[in-house]
Amino acid sequence: MKYRFIPHYTEEEIKEIQIQGLKNTIKHAYNGSEFYKQRLKDAGITPEDIRSLDDLKYLPFTTADDLRENYPFPFLSVPQKDVVRIHSSSGTTGKRKVLAYTQNDIETWKNMMARCFELAGLNEEDRVQIAVGYGLWTAGVGFQLGCEHFGAMALPLGPGNLKMHLQFLLDLRPTCLCSTASMALLLAEEVQKLGLNPDEISLKKALFGAEPHTPKMRKRVEEILGLEHTFDIPGMTELYGPGTGLECMAHMGIHYWADIFILEIINPETLEPVSDGEIGEMVVTTLKKEASPLIRYRTRDLSRKIPGVCPCGLKMPRHDKILGRSDDMFIFRGVNIYPGTIAEVLEKFKEISSEYQIILTRKNGVDHMLLKVERSKGVSKDIDANLAKEISNALRKQLLVRVEVEIVDLGKLPRTFGKSKRVIDERED
Ligand code: ADP
Ligand code: ZN
Repeated sequence: MKYRFIPHYTEEEIKEIQIQGLKNTIKHAYNGSEFYKQRLKDAGITPEDIRSLDDLKYLPFTTADDLRENYPFPFLSVPQKDVVRIHSSSGTTGKRKVLAYTQNDIETWKNMMARCFELAGLNEEDRVQIAVGYGLWTAGVGFQLGCEHFGAMALPLGPGNLKMHLQFLLDLRPTCLCSTASMALLLAEEVQKLGLNPDEISLKKALFGAEPHTPKMRKRVEEILGLEHTFDIPGMTELYGPGTGLECMAHMGIHYWADIFILEIINPETLEPVSDGEIGEMVVTTLKKEASPLIRYRTRDLSRKIPGVCPCGLKMPRHDKILGRSDDMFIFRGVNIYPGTIAEVLEKFKEISSEYQIILTRKNGVDHMLLKVERSKGVSKDIDANLAKEISNALRKQLLVRVEVEIVDLGKLPRTFGKSKRVIDERED
């Protein structure tokens, strides 16, 4: 396969780029930012100490707290006159993060996103309906920049406004949708409600980012909209924005742009790298970023590297889907629980939809977990009691805690244009 935007590096070439990029980044950050200079000095490191990729492990970690403490221009490593834009995170957890970009940073990002459209198999004839947030967020503008640079047609609708989305689906016939999986589900259910069939719209592909989604959720959207492929697209504001990689058509993990950042997976407790293929926290170090470089930045996102070569032939390494954030974890009766684990258990039950909500309460000092799920289309209410019991048993087996399960009608749980909120914690501290 010949690509226009995705470079055909061999593993050795990627390594060489990473070593060079790491040296440059450390020198740049050390000389450009007081924060980094101090942090590196505290760790006893000068830029000359970095000679190989092995030296990465001597570098200090950085965290979201460092970003917040140095608000509003954390990690800034260039004079302010070189900053051409800022973006801010959606602030899902804690205080807003502000990140700065030079023109070169924007160019790098634009190229990363164009690679994503290329890997998804789009071409210049494609029309791309962009249904993610515009403005301060990186999402809308990231997809837009990449789409234009790639040469496809961008339809910059943003999230929300279902009526306009439906009108565009029918009139402008977009072939690709970019959104959260939650927004896609909302749109698909609307298409279904209106009784439209996939032939009346031309969507063939969708890129889902910003939040984890389950295979069930994806399948439902694919079926209703008649999609050929859907792709998981990761990204984060700290690392330019969306498009740090993309699933390829083999759908066996996410190829990430290893010539633009180094990915390490660490054990969040010991802070040591895990062995290849094991799950841990993603830690990223940028190789080209000018305005706000990242040195061993702890993303709090959990995933694993996928060893071996992808059947698609692309040598860019792969990581698994983002399994969740360590911040998502909640403690229930002394047990650490990730919503993703609950989603995995639910995945096996065909009688329920992809949506779920976890409500935590505390009565007389005792924690209580209520899980709401939706009955799938065509499933009778008569089986509710049995089904609830079965789900509760499966969860108990997996999590070792008791969960009360309530089954509600399809479409009764909240839908959202953006990131879904799965856990409602009503316990006081
Ligand atoms: P925040 O949500 O922290 O305010 P961002 O808007 O920058 O910040 O979102 C980045 C975060 O969104 C990532 O760290 C990750 O937790 C989540 N995320 C982004 N893309 C995906 C994806 N494809 N799958 C799962 N989670 C994702
Ligand atoms: Zn591949």
